[in-house]
Amino acid sequence: MKCTFPACPGEYEDKFITHKVEEPDGVSYIDNVPAKVCSLCGDTIIAAEVIRTIEKIIRGQLQLKELSS
Ligand SMILES: [Zn+2]
Repeated sequence: MKCTFPACPGEYEDKFITHKVEEPDGVSYIDNVPAKVCSLCGDTIIAAEVIRTIEKIIRGQLQLKELSS
């Protein structure tokens, strides 16, 4: 799939990335997130269903924090 930036001739490649999520109380990193990454400009696309899964993981982490405090 061709890059969405008109000036970039790159193509997206399927990769696993570390996704950074900024929250009010800190930053979370989710490893092994499947994404499409442009080979030239590094633009990253994460599918909507993958983002929904990430949100579930984050909610689980927030519950764990509450239990341990
Ligand atoms: Zn690109």
